[in-house]
Amino acid sequence: MTGTPDPRPAAGDVAHRAGAAFESAFGRRPTGRWAAPGRVNLIGEHTDYNDGYVLPFALPLRTVVAAAPQDGRTWTVRSELTDEEVTFGVDEVTGPGRVTGWAAYVAGVVWGLLEAGHPVPGAHLYIASDVPLGAGLSSSAALEAAVLAALVDLGGVHLPDEDRPRLAQRAENAYVGAPTGIMDQSAAIRCRAGHALFLDCRTEAVDHIPFDLAAAGLAILVVDSRAPHRHADGEYAARRATCDRAADLLGVPALREVRVVDLPGALNRLPDDETRSRVRHVVTENQRVLDTVDLLRAGRIREIGPLLTASHASMRDDFEITVPEIDTAVEAALTAGALGARMTGGGFGGCVLALVDADRTETVAAAVTDAYADRGFTAPTHFTALPSPGATRL
Ligand code: ADP
Ligand code: MG
Repeated sequence: MTGTPDPRPAAGDVAHRAGAAFESAFGRRPTGRWAAPGRVNLIGEHTDYNDGYVLPFALPLRTVVAAAPQDGRTWTVRSELTDEEVTFGVDEVTGPGRVTGWAAYVAGVVWGLLEAGHPVPGAHLYIASDVPLGAGLSSSAALEAAVLAALVDLGGVHLPDEDRPRLAQRAENAYVGAPTGIMDQSAAIRCRAGHALFLDCRTEAVDHIPFDLAAAGLAILVVDSRAPHRHADGEYAARRATCDRAADLLGVPALREVRVVDLPGALNRLPDDETRSRVRHVVTENQRVLDTVDLLRAGRIREIGPLLTASHASMRDDFEITVPEIDTAVEAALTAGALGARMTGGGFGGCVLALVDADRTETVAAAVTDAYADRGFTAPTHFTALPSPGATRL
């Protein structure tokens, strides 16, 4: 069993930190450094497991893995967030004595590669990251994607980008044991700078949608609510179960099949107000993703603001997955002039994103901080995010 890393990033350039720490830990220079980003979901919440649509983009915050091969089939891993050094061999990866704790994300990628029949060289790996852990910005997928990029390159493995998200997702689902959809790994691997990633969670088809905030004089402000995740796992499972039951009652494989025009008829066939509200969220949210994509394709970025805000209202009133800290941040951002704002991520804590004129970023952030102080909440943190590239060798 390994411990829990410190969740907050260290100072200084992350790529430099990874390389320098590798040298002092392993006494030699790394062969290379590989980076993968955290992500936010612009819109499309709780649509993934309903076979629907999501629209994430990659953050400028990245996880960097410095790596070099080592003899034998042994992997030695360190992270700047913990003092632990974890070493494992093929037996621990494939056998019952599994790697646990943070290093399981690394062992899971090795496992996924071996299981898919790829050669994986033994390696020393050092991980540095600017992605805060457990804030809903997907530090786990960033770690998996960076490690995967490193091992694939070191092993000379041919694994096209479109096949990598599924392998990384299997590492997290089947090895680490965390049930996640395909969005996080797709974003960490396949996003492009200046674009959002339109992902159809049923077909896994992706489309790169122009989202050049800088050219439009806009920015996305991301506020980490710092709210404790209250009962998030149980509530998530309950929402999923309600959606599955509703699809059964409506006689469709997934709620994705229900369109907004079909909604009044569908709601009439559901047994109670709660189920009706949940279904209304999923159906309208899928449509908001499609509408957002249409506006972005037409270059009308400013106009997506109301869709973001409508998504938030739907999560708050129909899906009931927000908490007071989150609602306070959204309201304060809108009052201070944000064009739109919403919670991003699964809910019950996590982050809020706001679409703002670039020159108003600090004003909006300050308004959120003030509103938090008035309510006596733990002070939030914030950063500005422009759509950034997916996993890459540095
Ligand atoms: P999120 O992906 O939203 O940040 P998760 O709970 O899915 O939250 O993943 C966080 C976990 O991933 C951490 O608890 C840790 O085990 C692992 N992890 C992510 N980044 C790192 C890192 N840089 N160093 C060590 N472990 C990490
Ligand atoms: Mg995660």
